[in-house]
Amino acid sequence: MKQSKCPICQSNDIDILISEAPDHVTGHLFQILSCQSCKFCFTDPIPDHMEIYYPDKYRAYGPFTAGIMKIFYRHRVRKWTRMIGRPGNVLEVGCGSGLMLEAFKRRGWSEVGIERTESIAEQVRSTLGLNVVAGGIENIKQEPHFDLIVLYNVLEHLPQPLNILKECVLRLAADGLLIVNVQNIDSWQARFGGALWQHLDPPRHFSHFAPQSLRRALERVGFNTYNITFVSFEHDPFGWVQTTLNKIMNRPNILTRYLMGIETFNLKVFLSFLFAAIMIIPAMVLSMLSWQFKKGALMQFIATRKIKLAEQTQ
Ligand SMILES: [Zn+2]
Repeated sequence: MKQSKCPICQSNDIDILISEAPDHVTGHLFQILSCQSCKFCFTDPIPDHMEIYYPDKYRAYGPFTAGIMKIFYRHRVRKWTRMIGRPGNVLEVGCGSGLMLEAFKRRGWSEVGIERTESIAEQVRSTLGLNVVAGGIENIKQEPHFDLIVLYNVLEHLPQPLNILKECVLRLAADGLLIVNVQNIDSWQARFGGALWQHLDPPRHFSHFAPQSLRRALERVGFNTYNITFVSFEHDPFGWVQTTLNKIMNRPNILTRYLMGIETFNLKVFLSFLFAAIMIIPAMVLSMLSWQFKKGALMQFIATRKIKLAEQTQ
């Protein structure tokens, strides 16, 4: 489906930011459009069917990668739960294999996850014993009872990101926190990589935010942003390595494809690992510099409900 209006502000003032961005699974090309009014960027066209863009092995991380992710997730969850200061209720939208929800449960939190399909939800229920609901957020009771709502690398997958944010504001407790982690299209890494930026990932990523556009989107539905950070050890340095490799080989995401189980081991994978070993320290330095300058490839917003302020002044 071709898009002629900005999904966030409905403006018709749309420019082409990137004319040919390749999908690393199918090789199909997509445009990245940019709204001149609110600076939100989005993938065009939106495919009618997404199945071919998510092969069976997509995100079938091996035990090694999953083990590393688990360490990073536990670290993030520890920081988030400390902000609340006591065990509470958490909702994770798009909880995937449940690694993050499991970290919450270990800290005594009452967890609810949402996953699109019943088969994935049932798998997480049976393997990790977590409370996971299949389908959309409308299947979660509409009352403001969650102390934390987490959208961890989820918003970019939605063509209409405002819709989920509107539902979240209705379910967040008055003193609760919304946590949104998403890629930053205004980052140094995005500008360096252009069409071959690893985290651009069209068409699985429809929505491409910059700090300014995400802040506006949150405010539009009733959130106040009070904290923005750019630190992401698990995604940012690897993004520099993979994006640089993409530009050298002019072929997207060989290492990512291998780690996801889409590509088998071959000479290019071997050479990519060799390059990654050389590049990892400079990539770490570049990432840390970009965090200092608020130009990191991933950003984390923490927001509260605007209504909280109204309630406090009553
Ligand atoms: Zn707009």
